[in-house]
Amino acid sequence: MSAGPQLLQGELHLEGVSLQEIAARFGTPCYVYSRAALTAAFEDYRQALTGRDALICYAVKANANLALLNVFARLGAGFDIVSGGELQRVLAAGGDPAKVVFSGVGKRQDEMRAALEAGIHCFNVESASELDHLNQVAGQLGKRAPVSLRVNPNVDPKTHPYISTGLKTAKFGVAFEDALALYRRAAALPHLHVQGIDCHIGSQLLDPAPAAEAAEKILGLVDTLAREGITIAHIDIGGGKGIRYRDETALSATEYLAPTLKALAGRKEKLLLEPGRSLVGNAGLLLTRVEILKPGSEKSFAVVDAAMNDLMRPALYDAWHDIQPVAPRAGQAHAYEIVGPICESGDFLGHERELALAEGDLLAIMSAGAYGMTMSSNYNSRARAAEVMVDQGRMHLIRQREDTAQLFALESVLPH
Ligand SMILES: *Cc1c(COP(=O)(O)O)cnc(C)c1O
Repeated sequence: MSAGPQLLQGELHLEGVSLQEIAARFGTPCYVYSRAALTAAFEDYRQALTGRDALICYAVKANANLALLNVFARLGAGFDIVSGGELQRVLAAGGDPAKVVFSGVGKRQDEMRAALEAGIHCFNVESASELDHLNQVAGQLGKRAPVSLRVNPNVDPKTHPYISTGLKTAKFGVAFEDALALYRRAAALPHLHVQGIDCHIGSQLLDPAPAAEAAEKILGLVDTLAREGITIAHIDIGGGKGIRYRDETALSATEYLAPTLKALAGRKEKLLLEPGRSLVGNAGLLLTRVEILKPGSEKSFAVVDAAMNDLMRPALYDAWHDIQPVAPRAGQAHAYEIVGPICESGDFLGHERELALAEGDLLAIMSAGAYGMTMSSNYNSRARAAEVMVDQGRMHLIRQREDTAQLFALESVLPH
């Protein structure tokens, strides 16, 4: 995608904006997103779905900043949420509640109530109990809740076990064999309205075949349901398309969806998708500054001002992110461990990176737009990073850097 970072006069720029200038103005660590890249990723999906009744529901958990949600809302996106908090964000960002689907294995009743009052498109239900809870809450409000069942097609998505979700052993969804009985139950409950069927088999999927296999299994079930008089208006095939972090071959949406769309050819049901990572991952980077160089006989360390609390993926999944100097310097490169200042040995951002570095240099940790800021924490009483969006040559602060007083503002000491 041409909307990625580029070297101009020996310095990295994003959408023509100097990363050096962003760091000077807003400090580090700082997440930087490109509106053009977000838009291009969305249009890639839209193009893949041309001529088809489809709704792209951006999975908010990948990156929940209001400005970013607003960019997608303006493009006509729907949203896939997993909590009442995400619902409030979507509404605050101008998202259309009628295009929201609510996923998640443990929805609370107050969250169900808020979503019913907002008028969301559908609840993606994951258990028999949840059907009962939702029926009860909807009854109290005098409403009928639109429901879809998240079915586990039991296909292996061939990805990291922590982000594989569609196997029988996963906590998510209902077993394929149990789905029919649960649909019958849903159809019989007075305050539910069967609307759709959904699945989500995992994340960072590079092979398009498992998604198509899942879609086929689900279509079989839709036909069985139709024979029982249970009509499914939409098929939600979840998210999960992978991106290029290192040397992965990431397919375009058209290529990735081709086998799935082939399986769905001629079907009248509306198609829903829930992409997260593939819409935002490569639209963002994390800017950080080298604080200390610490050479050693076994390993040399570059201690930077970003850490696992800012970007958890390396520590959590051993994920690989490209790390580039913002102003590459001439001179001898060394293999550095790029680490943060947190008191954990797992606090690393990259291993053995061949870089020529000096203290004070800026580094860009690439592909950090997804599951970066949203997974960040305040561990070690570190204030969370600022977020900036560049758009047509301009930089916009879209989240202020936290200050330390905010971190303990909700705490109090015991009385005397
Ligand atoms: C996380 C999640 C998504 C988004 O997954 P990506 O891999 O980021 O595309 C979509 N649907 C559900 C139910 C999810 O939990």
